[in-house]
Amino acid sequence: MGETVAICQTCPRHCRLADGAFGYCRARRNQNGRIVCANYGKITSIALDPIEKKPLAFFRSGRPVLSIGSFGCNLRCPFCQNDFISQAGEGGVPCRTDTPSELADLALQLNGEHGNIGLAYTYNEPLVGWEFVRDCAKEVRKRGLLNVLVSNGCAEAAVIDELAPLIDAANIDLKGPSQEYYDWVGGDYDSVCRTIRTLHAAGCHVEATTLVVPGRNDSESDIDTIASFIASVSSDIPLHVTRFFPRFKMTDSAPTPVATVWHLAEVARRRLSRVLTGNC
Ligand code: SF4
Repeated sequence: MGETVAICQTCPRHCRLADGAFGYCRARRNQNGRIVCANYGKITSIALDPIEKKPLAFFRSGRPVLSIGSFGCNLRCPFCQNDFISQAGEGGVPCRTDTPSELADLALQLNGEHGNIGLAYTYNEPLVGWEFVRDCAKEVRKRGLLNVLVSNGCAEAAVIDELAPLIDAANIDLKGPSQEYYDWVGGDYDSVCRTIRTLHAAGCHVEATTLVVPGRNDSESDIDTIASFIASVSSDIPLHVTRFFPRFKMTDSAPTPVATVWHLAEVARRRLSRVLTGNC
């Protein structure tokens, strides 16, 4: 019998996988001709974080959210701050295993004890394991709690369409102003824009984040293009303009000057009503 090749439809990479092979994200694999989520229920990080840390500045301020992450990512940002989990695969990082209802029960317990608002899917890229996000989100909703997505937004429309009605708030990275920038990080600009539009149209509270990397996306025109796109969805969408620090493959680079971040935030304010600076 020949090998059963399968094509993953989760993100624009459309990995073509031989039986048993893992995708580029290391989180999905071909199992007997079917693409499965190999990181389903594998939790590498779990913490009760302030909602402001996601970052979400205008959603349930002052409240904590139970935040979970797994392993894997479909991008390769050289400045990744979570590479120990995002660039890991199965067995590459310690993890615990939880079911969606166990996590939703924990979220509910922490609601009573600490005012936890729900569950946040974050740390690595949650959408490479979107089935787990979907199943958790349904359990969380059943308990009257909220779902928060923190993502690079680089996913196919069908994935976002299925998740959007379940997500209450999201912070989506809009990392750069063009496909040229996304080529550098291994992503797809149009998909990210579509994700922001779809989530916003579905009634989800959306905020966006742009990490300013010196020499890559730090011109006035870069940030103006980003702000223009966001304003085309809604000029009320908050944008977090954040400062780069040397990480992962960019430890030789200098941090973004604080003055640059402040100036670019001012540029974005010409088009958007709520612009915040981060890491300054
Ligand atoms: S989600 Fe992973 S396996 Fe699927 S296409 Fe994207 S990188 Fe490939």
